[in-house]
Amino acid sequence: MNDPDKKVALVTGASRGLGRAIAIKLATCDIKVAINYLANDEEAKKVAQKIGTSGGMAMLYRADVSDANAVRQMTRQIAKEWGKIDILVNNAGIVRDAFLLHMPEGTWDEVMNTNLRGAYLCTKYALRSMMEQGWGRIINVASLAGLVGNAGQANYSAAKGGLIAFTKAMAREVGPRNITVNAIAPGFIGTEMTGKLPQEAKDAILPRISLGRFGAASDVAELAAFLASQAAGYITAQVICIDGGLI
Ligand code: NAP
Repeated sequence: MNDPDKKVALVTGASRGLGRAIAIKLATCDIKVAINYLANDEEAKKVAQKIGTSGGMAMLYRADVSDANAVRQMTRQIAKEWGKIDILVNNAGIVRDAFLLHMPEGTWDEVMNTNLRGAYLCTKYALRSMMEQGWGRIINVASLAGLVGNAGQANYSAAKGGLIAFTKAMAREVGPRNITVNAIAPGFIGTEMTGKLPQEAKDAILPRISLGRFGAASDVAELAAFLASQAAGYITAQVICIDGGLI
């Protein structure tokens, strides 16, 4: 049933990986979920179907988060169909790794545009609805790389570091409107993104994780759902690491 009292969440990059797990988890919390993705129609449909068969409500929005017109259209469409956006999870992200001397300018821009400009655009166009309601939750999926930096990931680390600074600035800007803004900084979570890592890199990382395992997307989804909840109403401007105790 299209209950107007239910919260509405937009989760970017929700066709796969962490975004998929976050969208599914939010739906179990009685939240209507707009599933954004770039191109993978099949996977996105499966996420919507999974939510639907569990009794939740989901809609699909194919849009490039780095494209201002596409983001404007998407947020307008959600507001038209569901009346509002209460929760925004800026999760869409890419890696294009290379050591800096070999990093093409286009690769730098691509990562900045998706991982940082995308969050700026989605926040800009989702924020008005939250301001009008005097309630909102913005959750930015950053990375440990944004705190400590990773060799071969200067573009990704800079974008995620920028996203963390963006989180803090926005928390100050919209706190008086009862909107919380937090960042999640995952360590190594088993998704397609980390699946591409060479085995030697995985073997080197594992002994550094206190819990002795890579994280699961559901670990991150639980944290995102908590930050999106009423219960997290006094938590803002925080960067919460979820890395199994990576040292
Ligand atoms: P993933 O499995 O590669 O999935 C990426 C998702 O982002 C897909 O849904 C993809 O859509 C979407 N996407 C990519 N570019 C987009 C664009 N321009 N516009 C809209 N959607 C776009 O990645 P993941 O591992 O789940 O990572 C999710 C987030 O967590 C990223 O921000 C990543 O940096 C962060 N993170 C992940 C880890 C980890 O260990 N996995 C650790 C730290 C931080 P399509 O399916 O249509 O391509």
